[in-house]
Amino acid sequence: MLDADVAIVGAGAAGLSLAHRLSHGAPGTRRLSVLLVEAPPGPLRPPRRTWCFWERGRGRYDAAVTATWQRLRVHTPGGRAVEDDIAPLRYKMIRSDDFEGLIAHDLAQSEQVRRIEATAETLEGVPGGAQVLVRTADGRPLTVRARWVFDSRPLGSLPAARTTLLQHFHGWFVRADRPVFDLGTVDLMDFRTPQPSRGLSFGYVLPTGDRQALVEYTEFSPEVLSAQGYDAALRHYTEDVLGLTGLEVVSTETGVIPMTDAPFARQTAPSVFRIGAAGGATRPSTGYTFAAVQRQTRAVAGALAAGRRPLP
Ligand SMILES: Cc1cc2nc3c(=O)[nH]c(=O)nc-3n(C[C@H](O)[C@H](O)[C@H](O)COP(=O)(O)OP(=O)(O)OC[C@H]3O[C@@H](n4cnc5c(N)ncnc54)[C@H](O)[C@@H]3O)c2cc1C
Repeated sequence: MLDADVAIVGAGAAGLSLAHRLSHGAPGTRRLSVLLVEAPPGPLRPPRRTWCFWERGRGRYDAAVTATWQRLRVHTPGGRAVEDDIAPLRYKMIRSDDFEGLIAHDLAQSEQVRRIEATAETLEGVPGGAQVLVRTADGRPLTVRARWVFDSRPLGSLPAARTTLLQHFHGWFVRADRPVFDLGTVDLMDFRTPQPSRGLSFGYVLPTGDRQALVEYTEFSPEVLSAQGYDAALRHYTEDVLGLTGLEVVSTETGVIPMTDAPFARQTAPSVFRIGAAGGATRPSTGYTFAAVQRQTRAVAGALAAGRRPLP
């Protein structure tokens, strides 16, 4: 049996953000013991991803950020460019590997946070808290008991909703043989892409150097495309819309984010809360989640420090 004040299930954006916020405690408050349960390497671990988010000034993950921008551009379907400076905000890009590296470094300095690699199998409320039955990579069952449990495991299915669209996208990390990207400006939404019969599509360009960028094709629509469909859309966008040829595709990224007006339960037992996308942190109109995860985990850490019920 493992005991802690707080157990966090899942070590993705939300689980790691919460563990990081709890790792040193607030001055003058009791230090909480935290147990972070992360799935062993395997199918439950999400692939590497790139998170973009808006932030004012300096942020707690700046040391791991790949790039930041202050100018954004949108292209209308007719080709008109609208560009502006977003100060005092910045648009920031962080790769999940770099985020995980930064958090791992900081958690290693903390005596409060323990990490175990195990798969959570069941989670239930018990008197005075909750218990999680987990299984380690070598098949050993373990019981984790905590006063509070924060569960960030993805939901198996979405709650019922009036509206559900998929934000689905495929991106190429590209390298050009000459300087072709404007490092100072993000093309956030470029609607010069052919529009699907239901929903909408756009391209975007996140330059990380004058020869390097992440170029993505995105749809908000009911159905995902085939791998060939995304490649054709990206080829059309880079070559015919942006006029870029001779790009080398260094790596790729694919994602599907449900955009739904479904209500998400934030509390599933008196001591059990959901955080992250599973707890409704995804903004239904845009799919952005990372910034909301920061607000959610900041609220939880603040409530725990103040001795309040830590509803995300
Ligand atoms: C490719 C991609 C790009 C995205 N880009 C952006 C972006 O630019 N900006 C933005 O705001 N949002 C973005 N999102 C949306 C959102 O930010 C991410 O999905 C984010 O990872 C959600 O964080 P999370 O902690 O809720 O879930 P995850 O990061 O998926 O973490 C869930 C964790 O639970 C673990 N887990 C699962 N089952 C178990 C189990 N049984 N036991 C123990 N652990 C378990 C998993 O291993 C994982 O670590 C993107 C999503 C995708 C897929």
